[in-house]
Amino acid sequence: MGEEKRREPRVEVKLAIRVACGTLDEFAERYALNLSRGGLFVRARDPSPAGTPVSIDIQLATGQQAIRGRGVVAWTSGPSAPGEPLRRPGMGIRFTDLAPDSAKLVDLVVATQPRAGQGSEPPGPPEEGAPAFEETVLEPPAGAAPAGESPAQPGPRGTLRPSTRAVGIDLGTTNSCVAVAEGGKARVLASRQGWSTIPSVVAYDAHGRLLVGHPARAQMVVNPRDTVYGSKRLVGRPFQSPTVQACRDRFHYDIVEGAEGEAAVRFAGRAFSLAQISAFVLAEVRQMASQALGEEVTRAVVTVPAYYNDHQRQAVREAGRLAGLTVERIVNEPTAAALAYGFGRGLSEKVLVYDLGGGTFDASVVDVQGEIYEVLSTGGDTFLGGVDFDNQLVDHVVYRFMEEQGFAPPADRGAWQRIRDAAEEAKVALSAREKALIHVPYLCRDAQGEDVELRVEVTREELEQLTARLVDRTVEVCTQTLAAKGIGPGDLDQVLLVGGQSRMPLVWKRMRELTGKEPSRAVHPDEAVALGAALLADTAARIDSVVLIDVLAMGIGVGLPGGRMAQVLPRNTRLPARKSYELATVRDGQTELELAVFQGDSAQASECEYLGTVKLGDLPARPRGQVRVAVEFTMGQEGILSVSARDLASGKVEQARLATRDTPEVLRAKLQMPQAPSPARGAAAPPPQGAPQRRGFFGRLFGKRP
Ligand code: ADP
Ligand code: MG
Repeated sequence: MGEEKRREPRVEVKLAIRVACGTLDEFAERYALNLSRGGLFVRARDPSPAGTPVSIDIQLATGQQAIRGRGVVAWTSGPSAPGEPLRRPGMGIRFTDLAPDSAKLVDLVVATQPRAGQGSEPPGPPEEGAPAFEETVLEPPAGAAPAGESPAQPGPRGTLRPSTRAVGIDLGTTNSCVAVAEGGKARVLASRQGWSTIPSVVAYDAHGRLLVGHPARAQMVVNPRDTVYGSKRLVGRPFQSPTVQACRDRFHYDIVEGAEGEAAVRFAGRAFSLAQISAFVLAEVRQMASQALGEEVTRAVVTVPAYYNDHQRQAVREAGRLAGLTVERIVNEPTAAALAYGFGRGLSEKVLVYDLGGGTFDASVVDVQGEIYEVLSTGGDTFLGGVDFDNQLVDHVVYRFMEEQGFAPPADRGAWQRIRDAAEEAKVALSAREKALIHVPYLCRDAQGEDVELRVEVTREELEQLTARLVDRTVEVCTQTLAAKGIGPGDLDQVLLVGGQSRMPLVWKRMRELTGKEPSRAVHPDEAVALGAALLADTAARIDSVVLIDVLAMGIGVGLPGGRMAQVLPRNTRLPARKSYELATVRDGQTELELAVFQGDSAQASECEYLGTVKLGDLPARPRGQVRVAVEFTMGQEGILSVSARDLASGKVEQARLATRDTPEVLRAKLQMPQAPSPARGAAAPPPQGAPQRRGFFGRLFGKRP
């Protein structure tokens, strides 16, 4: 949105808010402070002047209507002056006209909630940190239906004219975001409710309705088995993969084996491929973009983690197709972030992209020379992210609760999810403030039947102590990623912090210590990846193209007897790359050869991802060792692997097939592999002993979230 947009006082502004509540009871309890018979209080970055008419539309996360009607701005409150306690600006809105159900709801809140304002004026601002309605959109997005029309639901398919533009989509593990670029400038396309990202969560509710994004996330507590989150970790992986097995331990929904040995999910009584799950998210994002643009979006550039292999990239293309999108190009997330930073600026810089999201950490060094973006080195940890920070905080507050109460919170998933949500909210607040209150009212009852609440104040310093080891681990990965290519921290020109968890001030501080430079404020941590993808989508249509040069994010190797793995293409090999591997027959008259192919950096095949088996038939029958074959591995620019084989005696080229249908049991038997899953990747060898405990104790027991 333009920064200096002036509003004409008499033009009605639209206040569309989605609150993070699943039920009206929860709504009443949570927002009582902000409601009175006469009106409500809303936090707003840029309050409209008194007298401005407002249309009010407050919905629960499920889309259920809470308050709908009209009002007028009664007064505004400014931000706090320096030295005063922190207070964000807001406005009191006096109701002028409420829908009948909304009026009933307000009456109910005022009658049952002691904290609700009793007067006929809007209530004053609540203390900072207490829940408040947060203004999201004050104007309908360009091209959307005019205010007054039914908001949430889109028109039937095909009512919009097809767009000629391709959008950029960050299909994130935790959150997804969509952007569009025009003339070298990119912007995020927000939902009608004003969200600039949506949770990558898909669910079926009790009525069999498909929910995607915020509504799906909001009902997760009550419906954990039919709510799919974190699916990006499972996409394109064999069911037996170490990562999938680790997710099965952590996630609440059923992860099953698909027809071809791939991971799939089962919920609401049906099995879905992971491409289908991603397609639900992509379809939602596509609809969000279509609404915002007022055109039917059909083309996109989609980002994936740098370490995504061939199968995973193919699955994302398939998901796009199912969602009605042509995926024009797949681009790596760090490259997209670097593009958002460097595009059109004529830079000559070595940039470290530090991406700490909800569940994963990625570090990449990108060399930016004008519009040439070359990834020099990449590394990360696929099981280190925001959720680990939440877990540490949950452990902390639960211990404090137990110290005070003498008993543990009930072993009930809903109660624990409320603690987790409150802890995450406090963690986020502590990025901006020094103190936050973790408050879960009516958590349980004590032996006397009295309501017991959880109320723990945490300081930023405490949070930093609890999570310092997690941040240290990210720094260690950065150091290794730099060292892998002989780059010293001082050689970097810039550090880009992306991913929601990178907003933590401690991350900032540690990265400044590592590099001796202030990290860049030029990119938005939640939006950079989508913006970069959008820029790429836009430039692809024009001549002044961008050149992207990538490296292999995880080594490619072949399985050896005894479960060892021989690297063929090591990590950080510049793409495209080609390398051959020789093998010979081991029995007399042997006419077939097989070679299992893995991706990963461990010397143990069981710790790597199985890609498939190269099978060669029709070899000449000769004494053992006399038939020698060179298998050539070619990794294309987009990370797509192809394999061919040549009989070294005859020079005949065999068509090698990379079969992925071998069941893992068969494979394991062939290689006599032990079963020892380990999800670490890249510079991150399996965590050494004494490495930070990634999952908090309590978080591990109950907190199954990516
Ligand atoms: P992903 O790339 O996995 O989709 P995101 O980049 O959206 O994830 O990051 C989500 C994570 O960021 C969550 O764990 C969330 O709690 C955390 N987060 C979001 N905002 C903040 C903040 N201001 N301070 C600290 N953590 C934050
Ligand atoms: Mg991300």
